[in-house]
Amino acid sequence: MSESRSATNRPDMPGPSGKYKPTTRLLVIEQGLDFLSGIGSEHICGVCIDNGGSCCKGCRNLTAGTGCSLRNTSCTAWLCGFLRYFLYETGLLKEWENFWKQVPGLDYREDFTPDHFTVRKTLSNPNLRFLGFELAEDLRALAESKSKQGYIINLREQIDRSLDELSIWKTASKQAIARKNIQVLSKPFRRFHQALEHYRSDLST
Ligand code: SF4
Ligand code: SF4
Repeated sequence: MSESRSATNRPDMPGPSGKYKPTTRLLVIEQGLDFLSGIGSEHICGVCIDNGGSCCKGCRNLTAGTGCSLRNTSCTAWLCGFLRYFLYETGLLKEWENFWKQVPGLDYREDFTPDHFTVRKTLSNPNLRFLGFELAEDLRALAESKSKQGYIINLREQIDRSLDELSIWKTASKQAIARKNIQVLSKPFRRFHQALEHYRSDLST
């Protein structure tokens, strides 16, 4: 994981509309993992890990053979460039971000999230595993066709940076540049774009 998060949210303060519902630390982790499973994230992670890009690398909570021994809200909420790109293209990014903004105590590779707290927004259950699979296939083909070591990791970081810029830059012209950069970087994702096009056209009919 390459990102730390602050614990400045106050889910105990009533919002302008809607009602807070009780939830638990374990439940939001489960909901987050279900959501990620619903987009087929393990297909994407598989290619990334095969290419040396695991975000768990060097973490003291990583146990050989069994994986993470300290599943927490922070790592569940965190998105790398590939996963963030997927949510950006499928229109799910805001939903994900808004959900995790409500969760207190996010940090780096651990959390200080209380066992019980309240939230207003819930997460949907996307049925987009096929799209995650297509993106993973594109990444695998790219990794095989590019001899340069670290190509996949570098691509992930560049996409991440452009998505950062898109959220930070406020003027329309700057945002257009960030969008264009994302478009250029993701141009080789042919299978993903084709499947995405079908998915979008199915949605609009
Ligand atoms: S960096 Fe992203 S794609 Fe790679 S293992 Fe982590 S979450 Fe998965
Ligand atoms: S805490 Fe778990 S999920 Fe987070 S980086 Fe470490 S091993 Fe990975």
